[in-house]
Amino acid sequence: MSAKIIDGKAFAATVREKVAGHVARLKEEHGLTPGLAVVLVGEDPASQVYVRSKGKATKEAGMLGVEYRLDVDAPQGELLRLIDDLNANPAIHGILVQLPLPSHIDADLVINAIDPAKDVDGFHISNVGLLGTGQKSMVPCTPLGCLMMLRDHHGSLSGMDAVVIGRSNIVGKPMAQLLLGESCTVTIAHSRTKDLPEVVRRADIVVAAVGRPGMVTGDWIKPGATVMDVGINRIDAPEKGEGKTRLVGDCDFDSCAEVAGAITPVPGGVGPMTIACLLANTVTACRRINGLAEPEGLTA
Ligand code: NDP
Repeated sequence: MSAKIIDGKAFAATVREKVAGHVARLKEEHGLTPGLAVVLVGEDPASQVYVRSKGKATKEAGMLGVEYRLDVDAPQGELLRLIDDLNANPAIHGILVQLPLPSHIDADLVINAIDPAKDVDGFHISNVGLLGTGQKSMVPCTPLGCLMMLRDHHGSLSGMDAVVIGRSNIVGKPMAQLLLGESCTVTIAHSRTKDLPEVVRRADIVVAAVGRPGMVTGDWIKPGATVMDVGINRIDAPEKGEGKTRLVGDCDFDSCAEVAGAITPVPGGVGPMTIACLLANTVTACRRINGLAEPEGLTA
C-alpha cells in the first residue's frame, strides 16, 4: 500500500474540538447556546441510530440537543406544525428532519418548510440555489466534510480534475458545486456514464458516492490521485462468524490504496465528518441568526 490514509475520525475530532470552543465562546461572550432539533418520524432502526448519535454529539459539544419523535403514521400536518414551532423558537438554531420520511409525507414540502437559516442539512431549495450561485449558504454536511479534508490534504484544489461518482441531491450534486467553487474541473458521473473507469482515470480527485460495495477498483485510479470514499455499505462477513456483517465503501480499499496518493477508509473516513459538520453548521446558523461573524474554520 502506498496511499496516505486520511483519518476522518481524527480530523472529525479536531472539528468537534473547534465547535466546542465556538460554543463556549458563544455562551461566554454572547449568552447564546446553539440549539439543534432533530425530528424523527417512525422507527426505522438505522435512522434511530443516526438520531441518537446526533443527539449525543450535540450534548458533548455543549449545545442544546432536542429530539422529537413522531409516530410512523403521523399526519403530514402534524410534522409541518412542529417545523413551524421550531422555526419560531429562538432557542433552536438548527432543524434536521431525518430522512427517509414515510411515503405518505412529501419530503420536499417538509424540507422546504424549514426556515433556510436553520436548515443545517443544507437541503432547502434556497440553500441549494445559494450554493449553486456561489453565495453564502448552509452546505450539506457530507460534502462539506469531504471538502474540509481535501483542503487540509492539498491546500489549494485549483485546476485539479475532479470526478464525482453519484448525482444525488444529498452528496453528489453539492459535492460537485463545492469542487467547482474551488476551481476544480468537475465531471459528475452516474449510472448512465459511458466507460466510467476511463472517466475516473482522468481524475486527480475521485469522490465515490454510489452505494455499491467496492465498485471502484485500483485499475480505475490515476497514480497519486486522492480518493474520497463516501459509500457506506453493509456486507456479509462470514470470516467474522455466522451472520456477521461489516461496513465497506464504494471503493475497493486495498487495490485503490496501492495506486492512490491518499484515500479515506470506510469506516473511519468521511462518515465521522458528517456529524462533525452538522455541529459546525449549527454553530454557523446560530452566529448568522444573531448577526455575528462567520465561525473560523467551520464553513465552506
Ligand atoms: P443515491 O442512491 O441517492 O445516489 C447514488 C448515485 O450513484 C446515483 O446518482 C446513481 O446514478 C449512481 N450510481 C448507481 N449505480 C451506479 C453505477 N453502476 N455507476 C455509476 N454511478 C452509479 O445515494 P446517496 O448519494 O444518498 O449515497 C451514496 C452512498 O453514500 C451510499 O452508500 C450512502 O450510504 C453513502 N452516504 C454516506 C454518508 C456519510 O456520512 N459518509 C452520507 C450520505 C450517504 P443515477 O442517478 O443515474 O441513478
